[in-house]
Amino acid sequence: EGRVSLDQKLIDDFNTSLGGQLLTGSDADYNEVRQLWNGMHDKKPALIARCTGVADVIASVKFAREHNLLVSVRGGGHNVAGSASNDGGLMIDLSLMKGIKVNPEEQTVHAQGGVTWGELDRETQAFGLVAPGGVVSTTGIAGLTLGGGLGWLRKKHGLSIDNLLSIDLVTAKGEFVTASENRNADLFWAVKGGGGNFGIVTSFEYKLHLVGPMVALCLPFYPAEEANKILPVWKAFVETSPDEVSSTAMFWTIPSVPDFPEEVHGRRVLILSAVHCGNPDVGVNILKPLREISTPLVDLSTPIPWVMLQGMFDPFFPKAQQLYYFKSKYLNNLDEKTIEAIVPKAIAPPQPMILVAIWHIGGAMSRISDEQTAFTGRKSNYLFSVDAIWTGAENNDQVIAYAREYLNDMEEFSPGGLYVNFAGLGEEGESLVKAAYGKNYKKLSAVKSKYDPDNFFHMNQNIKPEG
Ligand code: FAD
Repeated sequence: EGRVSLDQKLIDDFNTSLGGQLLTGSDADYNEVRQLWNGMHDKKPALIARCTGVADVIASVKFAREHNLLVSVRGGGHNVAGSASNDGGLMIDLSLMKGIKVNPEEQTVHAQGGVTWGELDRETQAFGLVAPGGVVSTTGIAGLTLGGGLGWLRKKHGLSIDNLLSIDLVTAKGEFVTASENRNADLFWAVKGGGGNFGIVTSFEYKLHLVGPMVALCLPFYPAEEANKILPVWKAFVETSPDEVSSTAMFWTIPSVPDFPEEVHGRRVLILSAVHCGNPDVGVNILKPLREISTPLVDLSTPIPWVMLQGMFDPFFPKAQQLYYFKSKYLNNLDEKTIEAIVPKAIAPPQPMILVAIWHIGGAMSRISDEQTAFTGRKSNYLFSVDAIWTGAENNDQVIAYAREYLNDMEEFSPGGLYVNFAGLGEEGESLVKAAYGKNYKKLSAVKSKYDPDNFFHMNQNIKPEG
């Protein structure tokens, strides 16, 4: 499929028809442009359409249809499964579509499909406003939003999709549609968690909130071997803290870099990360108990500008230089048995940079029902995720086997389900997607049949059309 050889004249005509540029393997910047964030992938699309606007997106969809090309869509290119690219087909690349327009009076923003969270935060913070996104600034707003969107505002303002007001989308037929609560409501419901299955989103409109410029960050690093003592205290804290506080407990290994004192280099730690998004003076006090559970090896807690907070983890997630495999599972709760099951593998990973994260879920995001959006998992209390980071392809099998076995261990503590944006390489195919959407799968499949009956968009966590 998709690997038809195209006549040079057809390629030239397509290139001329675009406002942006069409790249092939013979262009000097092809190799740089095709790179994805996860160094595991080395895909080589025959064509890359660098779109500069909706017109290019429509032209690309029509061209691919006409010539039966395999199609993938790139927003920020961060998806671990590498679904933004393909081998031998057409990559419709939105990463040059950077338009952002804030409406400070209405507290809304329109942002195009190639924008990253860092770019959006910069524009909205000029007005003291924020759209809830993720925790790394280089991630694309497109993929992250379409899968749900978990960040530091999840308890106060919900997921990214809970703040979506409308989207513009190009369908598999190359038609342009707008969807909101009142227009194409079935499509609007489906894109709120259903990923890139229904078309190419060219623009997102979000509701904004007054946050910052300063917020309180809590970041004590405790010795990982104290986890059995610390995690129950963290659980009690996060389950009773106000909605302003969103928190994630993370096991990690302190790297040998000058940012950290030499004596802690290489130490496996349990980091209790938390952000209070209200008044920072109030926040610092509220978060204080998390810093006093034991003696931290390092404590980076500080009031911090919102934009700086959003970029502070970026250096640990560089593009293409490391290998990544992130996989998740929801947890019922964090009782003693669950903690006992988590700790041994968390403190002794096969590769040092493997991050094991426990995201607390609650507040605003859990006051919406699973039926209201395609995203499911709102009623779980925690999301467990193994974010494996390593170098050296010879370690791939060992690391991936560790992550899979770990997730299997957690099965008995889970109501079922996973977060589609942390879904490994998607290797389980349809069963994984069905597990992620649970009861919503059937309705998603019906919406897919309406907007993409031929499954033209299938380089994603694929929802199959009905029948
Ligand atoms: P891409 O790889 O470009 O796209 C992902 C998928 O969406 C692909 O299948 C693609 O085809 C499709 N797609 C992309 N753009 C469009 C579009 N405009 N229209 C239709 N379909 C499109 N998730 C969180 O919720 N919270 C976090 O804090 C968080 N942190 C992360 C940090 C890092 C370092 C990484 C790598 C990931 C993180 N994620 C997080 C997961 C993230 O949500 C997913 O990786 C997401 O897919 C990234 O979106 P993207 O646009 O960058 O990716």
